[in-house]
Amino acid sequence: MLEEWGIRGIILDLDNTIVPWHTTDLVAGVPEWVDRMRRAGVRTCLVTNNYGAHVRDVARALDVPLVVGALKPLPGAFWRSLRALGLEPRRCVAVGDQLFADVLGAKLVGMRAIVVRPVSAREFPTTRALRILERLVYPRLRPTPAAAHDRRADSRPDA
Ligand SMILES: [Mg+2]
Repeated sequence: MLEEWGIRGIILDLDNTIVPWHTTDLVAGVPEWVDRMRRAGVRTCLVTNNYGAHVRDVARALDVPLVVGALKPLPGAFWRSLRALGLEPRRCVAVGDQLFADVLGAKLVGMRAIVVRPVSAREFPTTRALRILERLVYPRLRPTPAAAHDRRADSRPDA
């Protein structure tokens, strides 16, 4: 799908996208996936609203550039990440677990976005409040073919 879209860069969220909130425990397969993307000519930049020292450990482990204190959905950090990757918005996709941070921010700079299910239920209290709004918006979104397939294949009750 990324190839079809002409994607050369991924702006990747940290908490609850590739690690459980406020940890450095990378979800199984993430380092391999970042490497596979790199070998395919798709570079990754880690972008997080978090400031903690653990964030640097994750970026170091993945060997990718890092933008901290991003204040997503404000577009500043997305522009900084695009500069770090040396790519135009149409060549990048944002990947994250929050509609009103990762996806909204990406859309404000004209990027595509892929939203993933949060990897853990632990999160910042304000995020938890925004999940209520997300539940109102999700039914109105048009899924990509891959997401539609995922939904059919998924037997979890929250699917
Ligand atoms: Mg997140």
